Amino acid sequence: MTDRPVAVKTASPPLVAVKGMNDLLPDAAERWEWVEGVMRGVLARWGYRNLRTPIVEPTQLFVRGLGEVTDIVEKEMYTFVDELNGESLTLRPEGTASCVRAVIENNLLFDGGKRLWYAGPMFRHERPQKGRYRQFHQVGVEALGFAGPDLDVEHLLMTARLWRLLGLDQVVRLELNSLGGPESRARHRQKLIEYFESHRDALDEDAQRRLYSNPLRILDTKNSALQALVEGAPRLTDDLDEDARAHFAAVCQGLDDAGIAYRLNPRLVRGLDYYNHTVFEWVTDRLGAQGTVCAGGRYDGLIAQLGGKPAPACGFAMGVERLLALMAELGRTAEAEAPHAYIVNVGEAAARHAWRVAERFRDAGLEVVLHGGGGSFKSQMKKADASLAGFAVIIGDDEAASGEVSLKALRGEVQQARLTVQAAIDMVSGEREAAGG
Ligand code: ATP
Ligand code: MG
Repeated sequence: MTDRPVAVKTASPPLVAVKGMNDLLPDAAERWEWVEGVMRGVLARWGYRNLRTPIVEPTQLFVRGLGEVTDIVEKEMYTFVDELNGESLTLRPEGTASCVRAVIENNLLFDGGKRLWYAGPMFRHERPQKGRYRQFHQVGVEALGFAGPDLDVEHLLMTARLWRLLGLDQVVRLELNSLGGPESRARHRQKLIEYFESHRDALDEDAQRRLYSNPLRILDTKNSALQALVEGAPRLTDDLDEDARAHFAAVCQGLDDAGIAYRLNPRLVRGLDYYNHTVFEWVTDRLGAQGTVCAGGRYDGLIAQLGGKPAPACGFAMGVERLLALMAELGRTAEAEAPHAYIVNVGEAAARHAWRVAERFRDAGLEVVLHGGGGSFKSQMKKADASLAGFAVIIGDDEAASGEVSLKALRGEVQQARLTVQAAIDMVSGEREAAGG
């Protein structure tokens, strides 16, 4: 067998991915898997269990769940009609609504609170820029059926631990606020309307439209021209009732006890309607305008709002792209994944021996790449080197005839020896253990 070029006729220009939606190539995917592995480790240690929901949901779930007058529902959803049955469907823009729907639909709270997590792609039709994409990924955590404030603190402890494990603890900081309960929200809403009415001319189009339907959202504007106005707006924290004050004080106390630093930010309201009481964001100065890497809070009303038996809940979501961008910015790299061995084989008899050898290595728990596509020893050895494998397992006519292999160490002191297959497996396994993996 030789390497031979394959002729392809191109009739039209190649297709490209949808704007704002990215391929994750193997080098990047490896870093993702490492980060996700660290997260999974933390989640398992805290007793959280995985939940996987569909990527497409009935549009009403998000309209009812997130609030009609929110950025996401007003202008960022991928909504379409399923032509086959006329149903309005939406690609999920976030994970909490789906999680709550699944919990209600499957009656998961029948025997008490549940700690859950999910991970996967989310879709929002935003203007693509660094750190902002139309398909992006979140790892989300939800604790449903718990009134807190212990669970609010648990989530902040978990995230703080994650930043330490990912080496990000020096560059992210915690911003915290309380949105209180329904009564204080209603009082504050009235004050906000009066305040913004008196500055009507300064409002942009979005704010004008939201003045009566959802004035709280004006505080969450990304329009820098409105910042001074927002800065002067009445603060929710001044309106908190007794319960909300006590809840928030207990959250702050928990953080103080755990030694987690935070900044109270009375302007932090989050972009979705379902939040109440505690809201928080972990932010960094190292990613420009897209500096929020993790955000969440309490949403005690959402389960009832989506038709479930009333139960409190809280949670948060991390933006995986932003966390990886932050790690890249700091020069943190995951260890390159390399196979333990690369199997070089030249000739027909060698090829038939080689796949059996590869299977025996895999039986022993080793990761091996079996060279494909033929070629000379020399060209195959180049591929073995490029694979970063620790060893090349070399099989030619002689090895095939004796049922053995030649093993060549590719790193450190380069050595080669003819061995039985088992001896080669023992040698590669021994190196793996010495290297700690
Ligand atoms: P922003 O204010 O940046 O638009 P958001 O409040 O809309 O964020 P959430 O809905 O709270 O974001 O999502 C949680 C996290 O998901 C964000 O903190 C961020 O890290 C990430 N995220 C949100 N939207 C995007 C996006 N379009 N592209 C990449 N990551 C995103
Ligand atoms: Mg947004």
